[in-house]
Amino acid sequence: MIDAERLKILTESAKYDVSCSSSGSARTNKQGGIGNASMGGICHSFTPDGRCISLLKILMSNRCTYNCLYCPNRAEADVPRASATPEEICELVISFYRRNYIEGLFLSSAVDGTPDSTMERMLRTVILLRKQYNFNGYIHLKGIPYADKLLTRRAAMYADRMSFNVELPSANSLKLLAPQKTRESVLLPMQQLHLEKQATDAESKKKRSHFLPAGQTTQMIVGASPESDGQILRLSQAMYRKFSLKRVYYSSYVPVVHHALLPDRCTGLLREHRLYQADWLMRFYGFSAEEIASEGENLPEEYDPKCAWALRHLQFFP
Ligand code: SF4
Repeated sequence: MIDAERLKILTESAKYDVSCSSSGSARTNKQGGIGNASMGGICHSFTPDGRCISLLKILMSNRCTYNCLYCPNRAEADVPRASATPEEICELVISFYRRNYIEGLFLSSAVDGTPDSTMERMLRTVILLRKQYNFNGYIHLKGIPYADKLLTRRAAMYADRMSFNVELPSANSLKLLAPQKTRESVLLPMQQLHLEKQATDAESKKKRSHFLPAGQTTQMIVGASPESDGQILRLSQAMYRKFSLKRVYYSSYVPVVHHALLPDRCTGLLREHRLYQADWLMRFYGFSAEEIASEGENLPEEYDPKCAWALRHLQFFP
């Protein structure tokens, strides 16, 4: 059983990832099983720091071989380290579920060892949960960049949702602030899962496909690097179009790490809020990123993006 100290380290280390709200799965419990992922999505709520609180949100390990400068778990950081085994994570999920603490699992990990060995441990965890513990609750699994395609595919067969985090809005910023990652290491697995989901959904025809029923999401940090809201929205738009992402999550930058290449101030939640409003316009009202903001522009703080658009188009409101 995992001890309280490791549990604290592994849950606190996971709190900066915001790409975990859940919805869209419709798996009901089976006889002898435990858990239920309903169509309306499991309940979730957000706190200012830990964000999503109805899933057990935990890392398998915070021992990272990578050194993304903005990350409190990066290799060079002097922080307490811990890891958990697949069996320990499963025991936690089941015991928390039985006590009604949680309705699902959000499982992520630092790159502990190689991307493949990390992804293998995560895959083993979801297989154990589904097959040995008959857990039918919601599982959101983080994808590990550079992990073998087959591991990613197998993980997607057991998870409800997967997410590979874009993290930074341009290849240049990624190179500067997360030098071990590349744009391709994140976008290629997203594309792979999108194509595999399309093929599996087409095969299963009218029956509900079991391949990633809640689709894919991603997260971008806003304000750690100089990209404008116009650039960020264009990237989101491209990912919605190419990979049919369910959501892009925007995480306003918080300086938990001090480094000369990083801003020393928080971006602030208003910028994040405006991006979510603009994202909503793209997803539900058919706006394009180009209509909302020019490429080098940030969204205005004083008006929401819909109001800003209306003020630029007074001819439509005589
Ligand atoms: S890969 Fe980068 S962002 Fe992820 S835990 Fe390691 S240092 Fe942090």
